[in-house]
Amino acid sequence: MARKILIVEDERPILDSVQYALEKEGFEVLRAADGETGLSEARTQRPDLIILDLMLPGIDGMEVCRILRREAAIPIIMLTAKSEEVDKVVGLEMGADDYVTKPFGMRELIARVKSVLRRADQREATGEVLEAGDVKMDLAAHTVEVRGKAVELAPREFSLLELLVANPGRAFSRDVILDRVWGEDAFCEPHTVDVHIRWLRQKIERNPGNPTQIATVRGVGYRFERAR
Ligand code: CA
Repeated sequence: MARKILIVEDERPILDSVQYALEKEGFEVLRAADGETGLSEARTQRPDLIILDLMLPGIDGMEVCRILRREAAIPIIMLTAKSEEVDKVVGLEMGADDYVTKPFGMRELIARVKSVLRRADQREATGEVLEAGDVKMDLAAHTVEVRGKAVELAPREFSLLELLVANPGRAFSRDVILDRVWGEDAFCEPHTVDVHIRWLRQKIERNPGNPTQIATVRGVGYRFERAR
């Protein structure tokens, strides 16, 4: 059965082109041109994913995202105009799963859609809480605790940690990490993975210079250590 995607966007040309690109990929598309319609469509149609523009007439995207997050675990990708808004927009308190900054290419958007859907599927398969080493992740609440203390992660860091913590003891190459966390069509260098691992270590390791949670696997990539 085709997966249903709801687009909430008031700019008609974007709505049209996103719909066209998604339908070409075999998705069923629902559309809404303002926040209120978006909310009611989300409630009645139960889409598999929502692409939500930040700037909307009436209830804006941020508010729609907040309301939906309280009601359901539908994955949300935000469309934002400025990259500076991104931190605020996809901050954990708002709970969007990912974002795309305008102007964006359709290939990029489709890659994000697939990657977020894949993550949501994994989440369903693996359950709501992951625990390994010093880390405990509540996937439904989108929260992380390290040694009992709450830690704030950016969405990409969260996804990366989720992949590693869901598979303790297993080494992942940078390419596989890019594919699983960023999406196979994403235009990223393997170095991007190293940068995010460094940020993660700063947040979860007792001593980021001598990591005991996320190990470097020489010539391969990274592995989350099994608890000893
Ligand atoms: Ca808009």
